[in-house]
Amino acid sequence: MPELPEVETVRRGLNKLIKNRKIIAIDIRYDKIIIGSPNDFKKQLIGATIVEVSRRAKYLLFHFDNDLTMISHLRMEGKYQVRNQLADFDKHAHVIFYLDDGSYLGYRDVRKFGKMQIVARNQEMQVKSIAALGPEPLTAQYTLESLENGFKKRKKSIKATLLDQHVVSGLGNIYVDEVLWRAKIHPEEPANKVTELQIKALYPIINDEIKQAIAAGGTTVRSYVDATGHTGNFQLQLHVYDQEGQPCERCGTIIEKIKVAGRGTHYCPHCQVLNS
Ligand SMILES: [Zn+2]
Repeated sequence: MPELPEVETVRRGLNKLIKNRKIIAIDIRYDKIIIGSPNDFKKQLIGATIVEVSRRAKYLLFHFDNDLTMISHLRMEGKYQVRNQLADFDKHAHVIFYLDDGSYLGYRDVRKFGKMQIVARNQEMQVKSIAALGPEPLTAQYTLESLENGFKKRKKSIKATLLDQHVVSGLGNIYVDEVLWRAKIHPEEPANKVTELQIKALYPIINDEIKQAIAAGGTTVRSYVDATGHTGNFQLQLHVYDQEGQPCERCGTIIEKIKVAGRGTHYCPHCQVLNS
């Protein structure tokens, strides 16, 4: 699943490649990607120019010069590709935008879970799934207090809490394992039992992890490729994710893999112990 740093990398790549391009036609090959009527979708976007691509957590926001915004959620496997020929797209490209410079922007999604939705500009934050998102790392809204207050109210595990996006948004499975290892917090620790000291440790680590991952262009763990075809190179810096059976870098204890919140979870049984 693409995580925040990958989506940010895609966003930057798209701004380089398709900003100020006008859409001259749209080929929708799988209707269910579109929320609402595919015909309306085409009517609203054909003739419009892409002003900018921004992002909220893992949603890409395509802003157009006609005051509409297309919200695109990549979900499990969604990817954008910019190509010079239609023949360069395979059967998994479900929506193709024809651009005025002769290039094509394709949305490829093997599992077809991704969604696209058009809203009026600045209405995107009212869309339920986006409105429910907690503050994002590296923004002014994400503070030590926001983290403390969010954890205080929640009895479920810290892993589940970080994954559900309400307390802080943008952390997926890989980065949750990484930040909990770095902060020495057991993934099954109930959120409201995480100590003040642990939260103080965790808060800057979340910012740092996301910053490093964005700088490195995202992780390659699941065949992730950005819009220009470059592969991310963050994989080598993973400390605990996908490291089961390997010695912990800090203490040498073998990293274990368990299931928490329904997800494969990697942790060091020596460095990350339950508080009670
Ligand atoms: Zn350890």
